[in-house]
Amino acid sequence: MKLLRLVAALGLSLGMAAGALAQQYPTKPITMIVPFAAGGPTDTVARSLGQAMSKSLGQSIVVENVGGAGGTVGAARARNAQADGYTIFLHHIGMSTAPTLYRKLSFNPQTDFEYVGLVVDVPMTLIARSDFPANNFAEFLKFARDNKAKMNLANAGIGSASHLCGLLFMSSIETDFTTVPFSGTAPAMNALLGKQVDFMCDQTTNTTGQIAANSVKAFGVTSRSRVATLPNLPTLQEQGLKGFEVGVWHGLYAPKNTPRPVIERLTAALQAGAKDPEFTKRMADLGATVYPAAQMTPAALQSHLKAEIERWAPIIKRAGAYAD
Ligand code: ASP
Repeated sequence: MKLLRLVAALGLSLGMAAGALAQQYPTKPITMIVPFAAGGPTDTVARSLGQAMSKSLGQSIVVENVGGAGGTVGAARARNAQADGYTIFLHHIGMSTAPTLYRKLSFNPQTDFEYVGLVVDVPMTLIARSDFPANNFAEFLKFARDNKAKMNLANAGIGSASHLCGLLFMSSIETDFTTVPFSGTAPAMNALLGKQVDFMCDQTTNTTGQIAANSVKAFGVTSRSRVATLPNLPTLQEQGLKGFEVGVWHGLYAPKNTPRPVIERLTAALQAGAKDPEFTKRMADLGATVYPAAQMTPAALQSHLKAEIERWAPIIKRAGAYAD
């Protein structure tokens, strides 16, 4: 009986402590871990989202870039952070492909995090160095197949969106290239601009400006229909790659056991951010689609992640791509 009372009292005081914490939360800046290098597409979404969310949270959100191993180094760091609401984690489709791609993964995307909500969906583009000797997709394919032994395909490591897109591309054109991993597609883009690598897939959040400036050559977009901001760029499906579709969805997470009231506060700030005109304009200008507020919820992110893990597992297994 005594023990029961003690447990009840403890539960009550913990509940009250969580309630009080949430009422005051946040009292200091929040760190948002991004599992890729600064200046890349995930970083761009994070910085813009952080600014928007900080308006309703009343505290700044500081982005910390923890690149490496296709996003898995940053995910592991986020998983081990204190679950007090002062570390949150933005990741993309890689959360759903890593469990199949990696034989050993130091975290479980489905059980090691709290879900805050879905954020944006971003198409990818197939781009090459500006002096690549092809001016359309048919010429690109011919040159790539004829020179495959010399061609370098950049990516942000195994488990990144650029890796996934490259895998699908190689399997759909039945040609293999040498892949070169970077800690994010910001450094990969620098290598492409410097003509040290030949081509890559990357999100429109990183490529729109480069395509407009003709600093790179673009050969196709990975969405089902064309992107409003790149109307002259055909989809890869239109150009014969049947069923080729990659949408890089992003989700916001927190370490497991972050108090529920804190998660609710973060979800509310995310939903408020989605209505922020600066954020929505920036995302639209970069070809990204902001999820409707109804999907910026823990439940929507949880079920989307589960569905995506199930969707990609057989595709990755068929491509035979694994890492240790
Ligand atoms: N675009 C990268 C990827 O391939 C990630 C990044 O650098 O933000 O996943």
